[in-house]
This record gives sequence, structure tokens and C-alpha cells, in this order.
Amino acid sequence: TETKMKKLIAGNWKMNGSLAANEALVKAMLEGLQGAEPAADMALCAPAPYLAQLQSLLQGSPIAWGAQDVSAHEQGAYTGEVSVAMLKEFGCRYAIVGHSERRQYHGETDEVVAAKAQRALAAGVTPIVCVGETLAQREAGETEAVVKRQLAAAIHTVGHCITEIVVAYEPVWAIGTGKTATPEMAQAVHAVLRAQLAAATTHPKRVHILYGGSMNAANAASLLAQPDIDGGLIGGASLKAADFLQIVASAR
Ligand code: PGA
Repeated sequence: TETKMKKLIAGNWKMNGSLAANEALVKAMLEGLQGAEPAADMALCAPAPYLAQLQSLLQGSPIAWGAQDVSAHEQGAYTGEVSVAMLKEFGCRYAIVGHSERRQYHGETDEVVAAKAQRALAAGVTPIVCVGETLAQREAGETEAVVKRQLAAAIHTVGHCITEIVVAYEPVWAIGTGKTATPEMAQAVHAVLRAQLAAATTHPKRVHILYGGSMNAANAASLLAQPDIDGGLIGGASLKAADFLQIVASAR
């Protein structure tokens, strides 16, 4: 029998924030969390220059922190990249890999994303591997094939370590658009991903499968109530303390 995991609510700040804004946001979150046992595990994924700030603000708190990307390479002549060893030095527990914005604007392939996941895992940083179809792919009936291909690359590369990753299903058409997948639509894809994990490991329920894409304080509870939705990857709503905390509270 599997022990029931806590859900994971992870914020993805994207390219937002400033030293002053981050401090105000994090302090408001920590204040809001005082007193009660949090309903979910939490993390904030910030732009790399702010990881030192998150380390000092969040150390010893119930909120973990992480990066939004990590290099597939160990070190060396890779101008602009950030290695997992560097993330470790700043206490990162997580690194998002293969976010659709990186796949779309930076040409990241399934193979690159899998290599990043592998690099993170090898250093003890949990990769949050993002998968998801575009609107055109959904309309063409390709959703299942697309997400399976994306997850298969990670499974192929990390092998039995697959139970240590976090998966985030983020339909591209739902990201930042205010258009959320219905709980039923999201659950259907999460079930496909769970089945794929079950073929790769005897412990498919150890893997958190997060939903992302316009998850907010109003719709989180119904999404998080689905059997295969183990948390959320939250963009816009993670920039407001009250909204983020409301989503966390919905994760009972
Ligand atoms: P959103 O972003 O919540 O603003 O839609 C989610 C994400 O891209 O991770």
C-alpha cells in the first residue's frame, strides 16, 4: 500500500520580480502560513539571480525553492547557462525543466529536456518535467500522443530514477490565458501519464503529477480533487500571496 503523499503547490514566477517585490511577496506568504500546518508541500521557482535571496528568506520555512531551468551540461563553455551544482549551492530543491516557454522560444527538444532532468536528478535536485500539448495539437486529437512522447523521453533517459521526478501537465493553450482545462480534461491526461509511469515503475503513485495552466484560487479545489492531480504549477497566481495561499489551502 502507498502512503498518501501531500500535494505539491509550486510557484513559477517566470521573468517577474525584483528584490523589493520578492521580499514583500515572500514575507506575506510566510505570514499567511503562520500557525497552521500547511495543507500542501510548497515551492517557489524564481529567476536565477534571486535564488540567493530566496535562500535567505525561506531557509527554515515550510516553503522550498528552485530554479526555472538548469543546464544539461556539467560545467564549462556554456555562456549564459546555470549548472545544477550552482543551484545546489543556493539550496534549490527543484528545477523546472522543459517548460513550454523554453521548448517554444529556446528550441528545447524532448532529448534536451530529458538530459536536463537527468543532470538535476544526479545532483539531488528534483526536476519538475513539463509536458503539454498546443491548441493545434489538441484540436488535431494529438494530446495523448504528444504528452506520452514528451514523458517517454524522460523515462528513457532517467530509467528507474523516474519515481524521483515531478511531472507537470501544462496544456500550452491554458498557460497565462485564463483558459483552464476542466478538471475532467486535466484528469484524463493525468490518468494517461500515470498509466505510462505505471509501465515504467512499480510505484507510479510516488510521482507527483502537477497540473499547470491558469490554476487560480477559484478553480484550484476542483482540479486538485481529481484522483491523479497531485498539485499545481502556478504562474500568474503565484505572484499574489493571498492567491497562492488559497491554492495551497485548497490542496487538502
Ligand atoms: P499560469 O502559468 O498559471 O500563469 O497559466 C503556469 C505555468 O506556465 O507554469
